[in-house]
Amino acid sequence: MDRFVKKKSVFEEFLCGSFAERYVLPGEPYEELIDRAAAQIRAADTVLLGAGAGMSTAAGAEYGGKFFEEQFGEFQEIYGKGPYMRDMYSAGFYPFPDEESFWGYWSKMALTAGADLDVTPLHRTLLKALAGKKLFLLTTNADGQFAKAGLPEEQIFATQGSYDRIQCRRGCHPKTYEAVALFRRMDGARRAGRIPSDLVPKCPVCGGPMGMNLRSDEHFIQDENWYAAEARFGRFLSRCVQGSTVLLELGVGFNTPGIIRFPFEKLTREHENIRLIRLSRSKAMVPAGLGERATGIQADMARSIADLAKKCG
Ligand SMILES: [Zn+2]
Repeated sequence: MDRFVKKKSVFEEFLCGSFAERYVLPGEPYEELIDRAAAQIRAADTVLLGAGAGMSTAAGAEYGGKFFEEQFGEFQEIYGKGPYMRDMYSAGFYPFPDEESFWGYWSKMALTAGADLDVTPLHRTLLKALAGKKLFLLTTNADGQFAKAGLPEEQIFATQGSYDRIQCRRGCHPKTYEAVALFRRMDGARRAGRIPSDLVPKCPVCGGPMGMNLRSDEHFIQDENWYAAEARFGRFLSRCVQGSTVLLELGVGFNTPGIIRFPFEKLTREHENIRLIRLSRSKAMVPAGLGERATGIQADMARSIADLAKKCG
C-alpha cells in the first residue's frame, strides 16, 4: 500500500521544485499525524512559526459573504455589488472616484481587518503550548493577531505590512505612519461613503496621496522597523539551522508561496535537524522525499491546533 494519497497538483509540484519526488499528503490517520507532530514539537528547542491567511480564517476572521453584507452594506448600496463589493479584499481594489471615497472605504476596512479584529483565542492556545521554546513568527498577515495574543513584537517579522499604518502612495520616502486614530476619525465622520476633505491625508514630503502600508505594488515601503525585524529574523534563522528545530506552518496556501511555504520546504530539505509541520485546511501537501521529517496535516486548523496544544502543553 502506498502510504501517500496522491492528488493531482502538477503546477504546485512544479512551483515548489519537488515534481520528481511528488508533492503529497501523508496517508497515516489524523491521530497518528498529530502524535508525530506533537512529539517533534516537544523534542524541539526552537520553533519558527510561518503564518498565512488560513491562520486568521481558522481563528474566526471573516471577510466576505453575510459578514461583508452586514458590515459593508453601505458601500454595496453606493457602488453596486459588481465584481468588487463582495468581500473586503476585492472591495479594496474598487476604482474609488476620489480620495474622500477611497478613505471612506479603507478606514473602515483597516479597522475591521486590523485594529478591531480580535480572533486571538486560537493564537493564545498555540502560544501557550509553545511556552518555553525559542520562538519567532514569519507572517504574511497584516492583521497583528499574534501580537495581540501576546507574542512580543521583537519576535515577529510581518513582511507584507500592517493594516494600522499608511505611507506615501508613490513611496517617495522610506517612512510609514501609524494611522489607527486617524481611521477612527474618518470612520466616525463618513457620510454616504465619503469622509470630509480635511481628513484626507497628504504625503508630508511630496504632498501627494497617501496609501495603505500593504504590499500590493512596487511602491510598498519597507521602513526602518521592517528592516530591524528582518535582521532579527536573520539571526533567528542562524539558530534554526543548529539545535532541534520545528518549522510550524499555519494556513499558508499558494497565493504567495515564495515567502513561507517554499523556503520552509527548502530549509527542511537542506538541514537534517529541521522538521516541517504543515497545518492547512486544504493545502497540506509536503514533498514526499522528506519522509517523516515533513508532516502535512490537512484538517480544520482550529481542531488540529487544539489537538496539538493538548499534547504539547
Ligand atoms: Zn510622497
